[in-house]
Amino acid sequence: MMSMDKNSTSGMLYTKMFRNGEIARGLLHRLEDITKNIQDGAIPIMEVCGTHTVALFRSGIRNALPQAVKIISGPGCPVCVTPNELIDKSIAYAKNNEFILTTFGDMLRVPGSSTSLERVKANGGDIRIVYSAMDSLEIAKSNPDKRVVFFGIGFETTAPTVAAAIDAAKIQSIPNFAVISAHKIVPPALEALAGNPDLKLKGFICPGHVSVIIGSDAYLPIAENHHIPCVITGFEPTDLLHGILMTVEQVIEGKGEVSSQYSRVVSRTGNEKAKNLIKSVFADTDSIWRGIGNIPGSGLALREDFSKYNAEVIWPIEVEKTMENKACRCAQVLTGLITPNECPLFKKICTPESPVGACMVSSEGTCAAYYKYGDISQ
Ligand code: SF4
Repeated sequence: MMSMDKNSTSGMLYTKMFRNGEIARGLLHRLEDITKNIQDGAIPIMEVCGTHTVALFRSGIRNALPQAVKIISGPGCPVCVTPNELIDKSIAYAKNNEFILTTFGDMLRVPGSSTSLERVKANGGDIRIVYSAMDSLEIAKSNPDKRVVFFGIGFETTAPTVAAAIDAAKIQSIPNFAVISAHKIVPPALEALAGNPDLKLKGFICPGHVSVIIGSDAYLPIAENHHIPCVITGFEPTDLLHGILMTVEQVIEGKGEVSSQYSRVVSRTGNEKAKNLIKSVFADTDSIWRGIGNIPGSGLALREDFSKYNAEVIWPIEVEKTMENKACRCAQVLTGLITPNECPLFKKICTPESPVGACMVSSEGTCAAYYKYGDISQ
């Protein structure tokens, strides 16, 4: 495979190849051709991943697609799907001066029931933005008199690095480091969405980076149970168009199969080393997704033998009553039941500078993407 370093000559050629206008136009013409006799909006396809949401807007593909194809944004933004209950818990740790709370930057601005980590930090809470769980471990080592809680969110792409940090903490016997695990697994969410009769989805554009870890075979039960195409897709413009075309072709041919547009990096079985790392530290557990509710087996909880690093077990903390903001319609946005334009607060009260809900906070959030890239007809 060519180098993926975008600054190298081969990297630039590689990137250019997947942004080639002629190839993109060809894919678009093919899509127009095969859907010309199909009713507007008759093929609703969900792109599950927040990176796809943004890439589809940024490339202008959403507006260029034929009317028959309706792209629906799904719950693939980890910041957005983390429920208030855990945000409130992280806030409770941050308010207590025995603790240092570490997490990714986007989490700071997500509104909890009554405040946000950002506001707690402004009021003196010791909250530190980190780029990885390993950074948190280093903070714990440098602050032996404090308890350091890493608020971990993310999908199968992030979980291996968190597992590695927890494993390192165990090996090094670090006593003052623990994790709130809000990590989630993608396939059970697709299973739940595919079975939602209100959505009537005809296909999934599956996340390329998550699929690198889990492999394409992970989607087989969903395709088989629901007879729905699951097409793993990359992130460049021609990747996206090709993935959408592959999905639409399957729909027209009455197929419901797993296929991969991103086979240059995704294998059938994925990254065994990363999967084993996840399995060694975490066990599948039921998990609550904002907007969807509890999805069986969709979360990652620390295994019993790592419970010394489970913040909720070793340092239980009282949390004020968790409430959802009833005015925010993130729940419906995340399940594709409405677009952000249909939320009465969108752009009026809720903006990236003053977000009311999580979907407006994250750079991968659907509301933030609609805000940044403008209104569209779908
Ligand atoms: S626009 Fe704001 S208030 Fe409305 S659903 Fe999105 S995040 Fe919630």
